[in-house]
Amino acid sequence: MEDILALAEAIWKGETDTFQYHPLGRPRGMVRLAEGTWFYRGFANTIIRETGEGLFIIDPSAGWDAGKKYEAVRTVTAKALHTAVFTHGHVDHVFGVSRYREEAKARGWALPRIIAHEALPERFKRYKATEAWNGHINLRQFRGGAGEPMFPVNFDFPDITYRDQLDVRLGDICAQLRHARGETDDHTWVFFPDNGLLCTGDLFIYGVPNAGNPQKVQRYAGDWAAALRRMAALEPRILAPGHGFPILGTERVVQALMDTADLLEHLHDQTLELMNRGASLDQVIHAVKAPDHLLRKPYLKPVYDEPEFIVRNIWRFYGGWYDGTPSHLKPAPETAQAEEIARLAGGAHRLAERAMEVAEEGDLRLACHLAEWAFLAAPHDPETRKAASEVFSRRAEAEPSTMAMGIYLSAARHMGGVTGPEARSRTVMDAQQERGRHAEGS
Ligand SMILES: [Zn+2]
Repeated sequence: MEDILALAEAIWKGETDTFQYHPLGRPRGMVRLAEGTWFYRGFANTIIRETGEGLFIIDPSAGWDAGKKYEAVRTVTAKALHTAVFTHGHVDHVFGVSRYREEAKARGWALPRIIAHEALPERFKRYKATEAWNGHINLRQFRGGAGEPMFPVNFDFPDITYRDQLDVRLGDICAQLRHARGETDDHTWVFFPDNGLLCTGDLFIYGVPNAGNPQKVQRYAGDWAAALRRMAALEPRILAPGHGFPILGTERVVQALMDTADLLEHLHDQTLELMNRGASLDQVIHAVKAPDHLLRKPYLKPVYDEPEFIVRNIWRFYGGWYDGTPSHLKPAPETAQAEEIARLAGGAHRLAERAMEVAEEGDLRLACHLAEWAFLAAPHDPETRKAASEVFSRRAEAEPSTMAMGIYLSAARHMGGVTGPEARSRTVMDAQQERGRHAEGS
């Protein structure tokens, strides 16, 4: 087991980076952050605080690692779970309480309770209505389309909900729960004044904020930035994020929070300014750029989400779905467009050849359009499929973020006709980490 705090220090200092140690990646395990305070670095992180009345656990686990996290908690404390907080309703954060409930029943302890924001139950209901859809999009996002779609909906609903803020006192420890819209509409961040521990949920994930996710519902960049500034004003001593590595020391914590707020505000303000000038979405996404000095920060690399996608989400927040390009208002089917372009080009083969040439020249954005048209115009032609798939594979390899890599890998698999168990064991994050370490070694 690599030492998680040593890794956190090395990443902060730039000795390694999140392309080699993805916020959602390995290694995993438990570390002690302060007296009676532990942090389990998982796919999503879990924070455990011991109090005189029992344990306070933030984001107990996902469904798939509930056993592992429970066992890890029981290596550091034998106390009963008193209160679990779900920082938001994403499925990597909201499972695992049932294990503590069974334990409490078996031992005759009081049953644990769950606290969350009042919008969280609606999210769970939406997830039940969209279970299969969420299976498909998560398969693209995390596994590049390899394997079977799966999405858990056997939720434990919260016992207590709140709207704006809630102070919870357990023994002599107070947890200040605060609501902010950010990655979700149901987000809670938690501050413990006694030891300066800040649990951000996914409002901080040691990377470009997941404020743009192409396949998920609306995110809230403006409110998000304001929440980060509010956290920074408390001058926390420890930042325990929803994903990625902890940050220790007030100066570092405040810097990371403020830089992240700066990034979101920059994207927000630039996008809104162009929208107010009447720009189209196409103009906006190619004009708004994140400041380089921020993207170079160890905690702001575009390893999971990326600025271009955040810009689109800001557009969606303020605008309608019409993107300002007239032919997009009531378009011809994409297949009909592709067939017409192939006819003009001299056939789908010619389009596929040109896609490969343009990819060789390094313009993968343009090459992907040509490859897609070729595939749509001749979806049963093996050579065309192979070329189209190759272009999207190269695109996946060249993209920094999980979001882009996952979608392009899925496209490459689909176009290449690759199905079955191939690469099932490897997540997109594993692929990114392998690539990051290879690049470092070469
Ligand atoms: Zn998360």
